[in-house]
Amino acid sequence: MMALARQGELALHDGTNTLDSVVARPVLKRLISALNFRDAATLQHSRRVALLSVGMAQQLGWDGRHLRVLEVAGLLHDVGKIGVPDNILLKPGKLSAEEAELMSLHYNIGADLLQACRVDKEVVQIVLDSHAYYDAHIDASQRTGADIHLGARILAVADAYDSLTHDQVFRIRKSHGDAMNILHGDAGTKFDGNVVAALDRWVEKDGWAYIKGEGQAADDVESSAPQNIEASLEAGSLCHIFSYLYILESLYDGFYVLDSDLRFAVWSSGAEKLLGRICSQVLGTPWSSRLFSYSDNTGKRLTDRECPVQEVMETCQPACRTLNVQQRGGSWIEAELQCFPLIDYEGKLLGVAEIFRDISRSKRNAPQFRELKLAASRDALTGVSNRGELEKHLKRMLAEYSKGETDMFSVIFLDIDHFKAINDTHGHGVGDRVLIAVARLMQSELYSGELVARYGGEEFVVLCPSTDIDSAMRKAERLRSSLAETSIGDSVRLKVTASLGVSQIDASDSMETLLHRADTALYNAKEGGRNRICKIMAGDCHDPDQEPVEEKPKKGSEFVFESHFTTCMVASMGVYKVSGFVNELDAELKEATAERVVMQIGQPGFFKGWGNHEKKQPVNVMLSFGEPEQQSTKAASRRVLVTVNVTPIGRPPSADQFQIRAKKIYELTRNYFAAD
Ligand code: GH3
Ligand code: MG
Ligand code: MG
Repeated sequence: MMALARQGELALHDGTNTLDSVVARPVLKRLISALNFRDAATLQHSRRVALLSVGMAQQLGWDGRHLRVLEVAGLLHDVGKIGVPDNILLKPGKLSAEEAELMSLHYNIGADLLQACRVDKEVVQIVLDSHAYYDAHIDASQRTGADIHLGARILAVADAYDSLTHDQVFRIRKSHGDAMNILHGDAGTKFDGNVVAALDRWVEKDGWAYIKGEGQAADDVESSAPQNIEASLEAGSLCHIFSYLYILESLYDGFYVLDSDLRFAVWSSGAEKLLGRICSQVLGTPWSSRLFSYSDNTGKRLTDRECPVQEVMETCQPACRTLNVQQRGGSWIEAELQCFPLIDYEGKLLGVAEIFRDISRSKRNAPQFRELKLAASRDALTGVSNRGELEKHLKRMLAEYSKGETDMFSVIFLDIDHFKAINDTHGHGVGDRVLIAVARLMQSELYSGELVARYGGEEFVVLCPSTDIDSAMRKAERLRSSLAETSIGDSVRLKVTASLGVSQIDASDSMETLLHRADTALYNAKEGGRNRICKIMAGDCHDPDQEPVEEKPKKGSEFVFESHFTTCMVASMGVYKVSGFVNELDAELKEATAERVVMQIGQPGFFKGWGNHEKKQPVNVMLSFGEPEQQSTKAASRRVLVTVNVTPIGRPPSADQFQIRAKKIYELTRNYFAAD
């Protein structure tokens, strides 16, 4: 972000009404091309909104630089969408509450980014304000409709008009007349009546040409390049910034960033609400404790020198303190402040960031927050998530999946081919750089909310949310081919390839079985000659040794369930393994020998019927351990055949319900045994 800021600053020219005085051209080009790459339809919409806004503003007597500011605000008002994952951005149906929250955060995130890019602060204010309802907007800074920047009121009308008159994923377009009726209907409440009237006038005067011609946006912005590698890298790197901003916006109450001269570079809308100053008042001004009023737990006001920002500037070490912060209205809140130095690769201090969490309100998800704060979640070498972080995410996704809260998802395992040879030939230093480069490439190729993690050594895992096996295969292919096409390193140009294994979640999966399956697929890809991709679905039986065999329950015995699977373990260990299982399920062990284990799960009630809850659906479970028919020739992996037999205690209401209960126990057992 600081690099973007510097680029923005260097290229910004003073001028009165030129585009360059509002936004640095290279920055505008980068943003537009990334937006085009992510979602061309949004860019087209933005162009039309810019044109409409300028048309209306002219009707209202605007000219000169003000028009430029408004035009740029129109072009960039949706820039936050760059960071919205595909599955949400392009979702045809209704968004879930969580998705809608993410979507709404994109305005804030976009504004943060525009600030960092040194886009004119009036543009930022217009973009932020345009999402505020005209009359209902009352925030901590006590601004009401009339205080909302007129540019924002114009932009809001243009945005609504253009959305109404174009097909959306969720609605068919309306005619010009219908759209105007809707806008007039909301004039005075949602929209500024004068602005809607200006739209009317503009349409009558010269707007028809625009409406007929579908708004050939005649801006002097170079039309963005076709979707090339550069644009995709650009979009990728911007998406990274977005994903961090997303964490900041969603988990904390506010933040700001200072440049190395201690001038405000970013002032988040959360900081705006918490501290009651709007960004256009603050941006570019020097930091001073007078802006905030902090006091310690005894109520003593902090001097400049005592503030965390100063401490961080001096020590270049992060600082975290709980302080009282005064709000605009005079009231005090207890806030946790985290303050970080921003240091570049050469160790130079680029600025300082301060993040707030309002403890008194503590509306944020505290456990998640703490976890995030504490997590040493990154891999030190490559900067991608580490294995612990991967497992945390995967566990959460599995839990949500089993509750039916999320779609299916997929996992990609990637292992660099002949990596040992790279180390042996060029040394470990080069090997390390290859790892970093591969991690970077993976991150820049993936920008739909995937999690890239280093699993260990030269193995990486990608979690792909809302992704079925086919799209995961396409993603994997994108990774494979772009890696194969890229040469890595500056002095020695290395050709590096990788093998990939892909699998999709299945209802019976635990974290271990899912990872194991993807790892097995990876192994198949290696066996198949490397630099290739293999997939295995839960149902596939590629390797009878690896895949559990499942049988339908015997006919004619609706209240008996019997099925089996094979697993790798020492047969005599069966009993020991089961004891853990017994504890976990709160079962009652009835018999345990080397050959079989019998246990009761669930408690019978007074009457013999089954209850609604699993605890009130008692069953007897027998696990018998034997030899599978075809024992593997690989001596190292002794397979054991585990037969699971479930019978009800009492009367289940139906055979179906019994079978469901039994099947679930079977899956649990299978997962448990496959775990090692
Ligand atoms: P294959 O194509 O079968 O995957 O062959 P490979 O050589 O890539 O696989 P193998 O597992 O035999 O070797 C992995 C090597 O990775 C061995 C280890 O020294 C090296 N390695 C693991 N972690 C690091 C690391 O952090 N840095 C470097 N430079 N090397 C590492
Ligand atoms: Mg390898
Ligand atoms: Mg390996």
